[in-house]
Amino acid sequence: MKITLIRPDSRDLQYGPLVDIAAIEPPLWLLMRAGFLKEQGHQVEVIDLEIEGTSSALSSVISDVFELVSWGQNPTSFNWQQVDGLVQRCPGHVASWKSLPPFNIAAVPLWSAIDVSDYRAHSWHCLDGSPRSPYGVTFTSYGCPYRCSFCVTRGYYNNRYRERDLRDTMKDLKYFAENKVKKIKFIDEMFFLKGKRVEQLCDYIIAEGYDFDIWAYSRLDTLDVSLLPKLWKAGFRWIALGIESGSMSNRMTLGKGSFTNFDIRKIVRQVKDNEINVVGNFMFGFSSDTYDTMQETLDLAFELNCEHVNFNVLMKGRKNGLSQYSTDCHPGETTSLTGTQVLQFRDNAFRQYFTAPSYLDMLNRTFGESAVEQVRRITDIILRRKPYGKRMEQSVKV
Ligand code: SF4
Repeated sequence: MKITLIRPDSRDLQYGPLVDIAAIEPPLWLLMRAGFLKEQGHQVEVIDLEIEGTSSALSSVISDVFELVSWGQNPTSFNWQQVDGLVQRCPGHVASWKSLPPFNIAAVPLWSAIDVSDYRAHSWHCLDGSPRSPYGVTFTSYGCPYRCSFCVTRGYYNNRYRERDLRDTMKDLKYFAENKVKKIKFIDEMFFLKGKRVEQLCDYIIAEGYDFDIWAYSRLDTLDVSLLPKLWKAGFRWIALGIESGSMSNRMTLGKGSFTNFDIRKIVRQVKDNEINVVGNFMFGFSSDTYDTMQETLDLAFELNCEHVNFNVLMKGRKNGLSQYSTDCHPGETTSLTGTQVLQFRDNAFRQYFTAPSYLDMLNRTFGESAVEQVRRITDIILRRKPYGKRMEQSVKV
């Protein structure tokens, strides 16, 4: 049977004028599905509309089965079950989404179905002036055992944490090295959960002499700082830390109360001291958020002065505007603020952070003047926001 796997393209809707800044990740889950189907004896074709463009690529395709494989926004930021029309295909019918369909973690991605040089890293990953393409993504684990109250990962993965055989991850890395892929993302929610596995992977990369520039996410309390020198040696140049809120009481409520602001400062300092850059992930719009707690979060971001920050807004029960960069982004309200107020705070925070002299000076010292220019080009982009009101539809500089 011929099966055509398609990744749809919604990048313009998701990112608007920021579309060129966002990464284009290789469609890893789709490639694993492709690898699995091929192993079953099917003829498989992959069409990535994020690369090909919509209309022309599909017009001449003949296939027995078409499967759309879509993903993108971080599952921590909104409630999938509120999304109309999101369905899971079951034998003979379609059903409303409940959790992800069974996933074959042992499938081998069919890398030969794409050209890794078509994909590109985030612009911040290349602040040092290095090329954004080719780009590779891989993983060592899947899901998360934690239960942070704002995060839908537990529903998304049924609160399961599953480990991939590291030999499969090593095969991906070998493929990347052979195909001159230097920029790599580990997409695990919990890459650092098992220090021994992280160390094993680092030892492999170091022994093979690969020259990678890797980034991965980490929960603050799963990062074993004693591994930082080895991580650097293996090519880890960025770690994205889930800091979320500058308010201790907020973090206690959310399930991220195991660290104080003092611990956060210490961990960020230790990562930076090992010449690994930090992406600080912060969120605005928790139910308990007020202007004061959101300001605490922004103050902490300024104090940490991370090489990059993501200021995310929490989505609650919306059916559209799920991307925080989209024109119709609608964050949920808090007990004291409307969604629009949260969004305005977020947009102002973004602008303040990325234009602050203290940030730009640090960037200049770390990456040079070209990085400062790159950030200035981004903060010159105008982002339109419908929720600010039809009459008041506002253009904000991001
Ligand atoms: S640790 Fe991260 S991925 Fe896991 S539940 Fe909390 S926010 Fe979600």
